Amino acid sequence: MGNGDIYKIFRSKCKAFETISLRASPDESFRSPPKMPERDHRDHCLADPISYNMETILPLTPEQDFPINYGKDTLNQTTREPDISLKGLRHSAAHVLAQAVKRLFPSAQVGIGPATEEGFYYDFHFDRPFSPEDLEKIEAEMKAIIASRSPIVRRALSREEAGDLFSSKGEDFKLEILHGIPEEAEITVYDQGDFTDLCRGPHLSDTGEIGAVKLLSSSGAYWKGIESNPSLQRIYGTAFPTQKELDDYLERLEEIRQRDHRKLGKELGFFRTLDEKGAGMVLWLPRGARIRRVIEDIWKIRHDRHGYQYVYTPHIARLDLWKQSGHWDFYRDSMFSPMEIEGSEFELKPMNCPFHILISRESIQSYRDLPVRLAELGTVYRYERSGTLHGLLRVRGFTQDDAHIFCRPEDIATEIGKVLKLVDEMLLPFGFTNRSVYLSTRPEGSVGSDENWELATRALEEALRTAGIPYEIDPGEGVFYGPKIDMKFHDVLGRTWQLSTIQVDFNLPEKFDLTYRDASGKDVRPIMIHRALLGSVERFFGILVEHFKGAFPLWLAPEQVTILTIGRPAYSLCRENRPLPRGFGAQGVDRLQE
Ligand SMILES: [Zn+2]
Ligand SMILES: [Zn+2]
Repeated sequence: MGNGDIYKIFRSKCKAFETISLRASPDESFRSPPKMPERDHRDHCLADPISYNMETILPLTPEQDFPINYGKDTLNQTTREPDISLKGLRHSAAHVLAQAVKRLFPSAQVGIGPATEEGFYYDFHFDRPFSPEDLEKIEAEMKAIIASRSPIVRRALSREEAGDLFSSKGEDFKLEILHGIPEEAEITVYDQGDFTDLCRGPHLSDTGEIGAVKLLSSSGAYWKGIESNPSLQRIYGTAFPTQKELDDYLERLEEIRQRDHRKLGKELGFFRTLDEKGAGMVLWLPRGARIRRVIEDIWKIRHDRHGYQYVYTPHIARLDLWKQSGHWDFYRDSMFSPMEIEGSEFELKPMNCPFHILISRESIQSYRDLPVRLAELGTVYRYERSGTLHGLLRVRGFTQDDAHIFCRPEDIATEIGKVLKLVDEMLLPFGFTNRSVYLSTRPEGSVGSDENWELATRALEEALRTAGIPYEIDPGEGVFYGPKIDMKFHDVLGRTWQLSTIQVDFNLPEKFDLTYRDASGKDVRPIMIHRALLGSVERFFGILVEHFKGAFPLWLAPEQVTILTIGRPAYSLCRENRPLPRGFGAQGVDRLQE
């Protein structure tokens, strides 16, 4: 049977194929819109997502169209280069907060009050939650304390003096902290007006140096974060040297609030989380699913072109598999409990890797078979505490854009280089043109020989240098089984998101005794490379919603064209003829409104 016969059979059997072939010549369809049979809306939605033409939408050489910028990791800048003065200012503001609360609510006991990345908080033991009205009063009192320009004075005390001081004030939590301070350490307190705090400092010289302060919220917390400890009320705030900086920050907070993917995802009908029916599990609604499908199709096409083979793997397997891979030992806290099936324990998969190893075994015998690149949009399940779940960004079931490359040790740099290129092809079209790249090196307690670590780390460096990608070294931040490259991308607000990760692994091929025969007939262990470009489809989608503020570009938009008609004759005409330019990649008329 020739190709023509197959084509005929396929064409007669498959309606969708007809849809594709109609759009294969965009110029023609632009001149004379194809007559579409009348279908109901559902039928239309099923056929249409195939019709976007990704090759015309997405340039094949992204680097020409999307200039890449390498920036600092703006969110983590304070942790990488601690800004002592801003931190000191915010920590001083936390003391002012405690002073204000003690003045207004003398029965409140103080806990701890550190500066944070974007502000400060203070914990109080109090018999009820603080209300928004309370926060207003407290903030006004703080402003009065700042205006009074109280000097902040450091005092060194003996252990006994400090003990007497805080027991006379009835500050049990401070006494507990005092008892935990090592013998040899100096005990210092800071006074400002009628308030004294046990503190190492440093602080501003007077409260007047706090330019602008704002209380943001309050929530419950546990003493030392342990649930069996007394519950506390935590008040969050932020402070800046000037009012202008505070205003800019608050404006940014409001912008972030408006872009929140949980809010937009609901308003725009993209997704729901199961919540009481299963927290951390996602329902993709048709409009969100349509965007996801475009992303996944692009992903598959790109991976095909880069020589990946697509595979499918099951969602559960015998627990033994996870014991052999080592996940049960190292990763148990993030795995769901095993379930019993016919007397054996089965486990929901937290990772796709062991399955891909089993598949690679089938196809790797000789060095001639390498590299093997296996790709899968693989759904995994991980146990996350319910309190840490967050929209699509932190969920319990998600789809990794996963792939594993099995190669010879001498090919690591070449393979990583290809992955780096694929990262650009995947992420630049979404507008992620700013990024920070980190190379994480050998951590404490890692497995593998010095020689392998050296080889892999040098290969990663070589690949980054060859690709002309500037990077920073993250010393000791590699995975226990090998070094890795992490890429953080900056969204329109300058927030950074860890998306792509490329990890070299010596460990799993060993655990599964994977070998290939080299040119001299010797059995050699291949190197395994784990890599995800988007991270997970759920998280990536959540980030995209915030990045685009829900207004997806035309090629991604769930509804590209809506034709509004006036009067029934025009409606019928539009319904019959669908006068739209399909050739430019439109997904078709999504709604005809009468
Ligand atoms: Zn302090
Ligand atoms: Zn993996």
